[in-house]
Amino acid sequence: MRFSKAFIPTAKEAPSGAVLDSHIFLSRAGFVVQVASGLYNYLPLGKRVLKKIEAIINDEMQRCDAQEVELSFVTPAELWQESGRIEKFGKELLRFRDRKDNLFVLGPTHEEMMVNIVRNRVTSYKQLPLNLYQIKTKFRDEARPRFGLMRAREFVMKDGYSFHASNKDLDREFNAMEAAYKRILERLGLEFRIVEADSGAIGGSGSKELMVLANSGEDTLAVCDSCEYGANIEAAKRSPHREIPEAPEAEFNKFKTPGIKSIEDLASFFRVDPYYTLKTVVKRAIYEEGDEIVFFFLRGSDDLQEVKAVNAAGALDLVDVSEDEIKALGFIPGFIGPLDVKNVKCIFDNDLKDAEHMICGANEEDFHFVNVAMSVIEDAQFAELYEVKEADGCPHCSGTLSFTKGIEVGHIFKLGTTYSKALGAEFLNEKGQSVPFIMGTYGMGVSRLIAAVIEQHHDEKGCIWTPATAPYLVNVMVSNIKDDDQLQLGEKLYNRLRDAGVDVILDDRKERFGFKMKDAELIGFPFTVIVGKELQNGNVQILHRQTLEKSVVAKDKVFEAVMELIG
Ligand code: ATP
Ligand code: MG
Repeated sequence: MRFSKAFIPTAKEAPSGAVLDSHIFLSRAGFVVQVASGLYNYLPLGKRVLKKIEAIINDEMQRCDAQEVELSFVTPAELWQESGRIEKFGKELLRFRDRKDNLFVLGPTHEEMMVNIVRNRVTSYKQLPLNLYQIKTKFRDEARPRFGLMRAREFVMKDGYSFHASNKDLDREFNAMEAAYKRILERLGLEFRIVEADSGAIGGSGSKELMVLANSGEDTLAVCDSCEYGANIEAAKRSPHREIPEAPEAEFNKFKTPGIKSIEDLASFFRVDPYYTLKTVVKRAIYEEGDEIVFFFLRGSDDLQEVKAVNAAGALDLVDVSEDEIKALGFIPGFIGPLDVKNVKCIFDNDLKDAEHMICGANEEDFHFVNVAMSVIEDAQFAELYEVKEADGCPHCSGTLSFTKGIEVGHIFKLGTTYSKALGAEFLNEKGQSVPFIMGTYGMGVSRLIAAVIEQHHDEKGCIWTPATAPYLVNVMVSNIKDDDQLQLGEKLYNRLRDAGVDVILDDRKERFGFKMKDAELIGFPFTVIVGKELQNGNVQILHRQTLEKSVVAKDKVFEAVMELIG
């Protein structure tokens, strides 16, 4: 490609409101332009990067015998009604009617469509396993589209779905997909971590996220300092063998505690460790039909993890509750306790199962109970509600957890039979019985990956593409195109590299050297060969974008030098 003919509209100004470096640089360097909130046009450079990432994904999928398909983006709403997800997906699902008044949705993910493809076509265990995927536009009417390609409304996803006759075979495929995703991210040149993720209402351990490590990441990850354990904070666990503070000694009693509402005040009032106080978090749980107030109880030393709480309540979402709403239920904020609570759903953290010596609200203004054993609460519902903290013990070894930030670029999940059952997709097993398919799903955010590469690889001057993702690996820059020697050498090198199959661009624009350098740094080609004044001495320079170091090479050796650099 010749720069003089290319459509690469670079700009000095960042788009208004852009905060992430990837958003700023991908826009300024002319990779993408925003059309409307969460909608982007890919310009030639952006499209090249997208295709490079797609090619690597395709290559790794072929190696695993996964087959590429392409499903209609517009999907009939009936399929979503069959699976029951039309309500659950809420407003993220864009719905519309055609001229015959049929209801459709723009596909945000394609479980239903994929099950519909195999339903009645794959009828025997002999046709299994099967792994079908596509790389395709998705639409989610995100509540807060932001950060450029990172959280768009229209975006590109690789979504794969596998079908199996047994759980054992699903496990095998899940491991194969994990390994393939790992190779994809390695080939892209990214530093990442595969972590345990929230499995939502389905539960189980078969949910992992691929996280590109970056300070700007929206996800918090808890990682062990001595073993492989890593988990999204939404799912992270801690070692049960923590140091337990000494228990307070007291008889069961009701104490006057005037104005003592916070855990901090309560612990210092009674001079106990917050571990022995009971924290109540009041939320309104939103269900498909209706809502209700829920009391979540934890040790005062712990905090509520909202995603765990949503799962425990079996809710779609949890929202905050005002003090007035709590009072309307007959409770006093700051003095809520679990004894004799009627008409309100209570969920207790697992860590309270055998808890003793606890101090909790007495459901009476200015009173708390002391020395309560949780065993007195009948039919208590327990679930894991706590959020891990930094320095908590690792659940798998004697190591310690610390936090890091990640960008979720992939999610692999053992679905089981949820969708095949809902949509009545069955096959005949070895015994001749009709049973639902056992499924896995494997998503990867292709367009988000573009942003993730830049979040991890940039400096104050602009993008620094990894070799596998660069729109062009080599930029041959003719410093002054009016200088015949420079132009001739530049053209010659450009042609040789192109003929050798290298992704190369020739900067043959009539611009000043400084202007072209700024563009080269902003766009972030891994290597720029500068054919400039040095040519008088028989030399050219090679700028390494990553380090910004320049090496001097004799003009006759430059082709070989570039070939060696790019391996
Ligand atoms: P998030 O928690 O970031 O909203 P998700 O859990 O909704 O992601 P999945 O449904 O698992 O995401 O989708 C698979 C992949 O698609 C994600 O891992 C992510 O990389 C990508 N993705 C999801 N939503 C978006 C979006 N709005 N813009 C760009 N990529 C997205
Ligand atoms: Mg989402």
